[in-house]
Amino acid sequence: MNILVINAGSSSLKYQLFNMENDSVLAKGKVERIGMDTAIVTHEPADKAEAREVGEILEHTTAIRKVLEMLLHAQHGVLGAIEEIDAVGHRVVHGGEAFKSSVLVDDEVKREIKRLFDLAPLHNPAAMLGIAAVEANMPGVPQAVVFDTAFHQTMPAPAYLYPVPMALYRKHKVRRYGFHGTSHNYVSERAAVFLGRPLEQLKLVTCHIGNGASCAAIVGGRSVDTSMGMTPLEGLMMGTRSGDLDPAIVPYAMGKEDLTLSEISSMLNKHSGLQAISGLSSDMREIVEAMEAGDRNAKLAFDMYEYRIRKYIGAYAAAMNGLDAVVFTAGVGENSALLRKAVCEQLSFLGIEFDEEANLTGRGLEKRITKPGSKVEVLVIPTNEEWMIARDTYALVKH
Ligand code: AMP
Repeated sequence: MNILVINAGSSSLKYQLFNMENDSVLAKGKVERIGMDTAIVTHEPADKAEAREVGEILEHTTAIRKVLEMLLHAQHGVLGAIEEIDAVGHRVVHGGEAFKSSVLVDDEVKREIKRLFDLAPLHNPAAMLGIAAVEANMPGVPQAVVFDTAFHQTMPAPAYLYPVPMALYRKHKVRRYGFHGTSHNYVSERAAVFLGRPLEQLKLVTCHIGNGASCAAIVGGRSVDTSMGMTPLEGLMMGTRSGDLDPAIVPYAMGKEDLTLSEISSMLNKHSGLQAISGLSSDMREIVEAMEAGDRNAKLAFDMYEYRIRKYIGAYAAAMNGLDAVVFTAGVGENSALLRKAVCEQLSFLGIEFDEEANLTGRGLEKRITKPGSKVEVLVIPTNEEWMIARDTYALVKH
């Protein structure tokens, strides 16, 4: 069975085609700058040369048609006919409280995703465009939706409620949802396999540290807390997002700087985090480069970033009343040995015996970066959200 995984944004669309029988990726690629006459399609088949095309793609239906053309292409294609795609799985950012797991798309599911537009005004409409585009190009093919929030629906009320008037929750669904759930779920399962222990017996803190970043506390395979909240702005310091701050700063800064709601929101989401403190970049590679060249603002940005991850790991060890392993994943978590070292070396009180050499080797592989006998283990596990989406879609379609 072949499953096409789609991750649609407002002006871009990523795809990956999986053969579920042998767990292989047949092709992957992306369409960028949708809406422009210079849209770019990049297609990477597994065993053939990469293809790149630039041209007019004004909306998602055309983008999906282009993807299908690439998959069926005489030279770069990997399929003989469109019917060889058995199902399509979509990443959807917000599932609210309605979706506690992945589901097959039907009219009611589409209506519910639309009801959630308010909670994810940038992301959910894009996912709906992706679903409609697949319907237009591949009528009758089953589609599934996999939500970033679903994995965290197991959080208990003390973790997901905010201490504000309950009317905000009852009337407007103001609560913590958490994101990156597909990734936290994947790396927690892989961690159990790596450690050779049943997931049901483990207390884990998973750290998805990429451009967006979040930690999750996972007991027996169930998320009991996570650092992102009603939106992805809460929690850790990120590339351009502030993460946690005193909520009183919002009205204060709005008054002092004469900012509108949209301006303050843009400031906290797009112009804060590493970018704001370093004054240089939101990219950890550039922060580390500048820091090593002696830039003090870059060093401050790195130190704040690392400090906040460490605080969350400590908090979650307390929340779970114990800790078996910490897992690092995503762009920064998988690649920055320096960040992992900074976090782990100051967590020795928890029983983490950091292994400096292991931390520096085995890039791109699942690995342990604590010494043998360390009471709490630390792992690096490359995430694979697309594979999780394919797996959920496969399971739903098979039933
Ligand atoms: P993601 O959102 O998971 O794709 O992660 C993207 C981020 O990973 C980039 O913004 C970089 O800051 C970071 N990153 C990628 N490679 C490295 C590296 N070698 N060292 C430090 N950070 C990296």
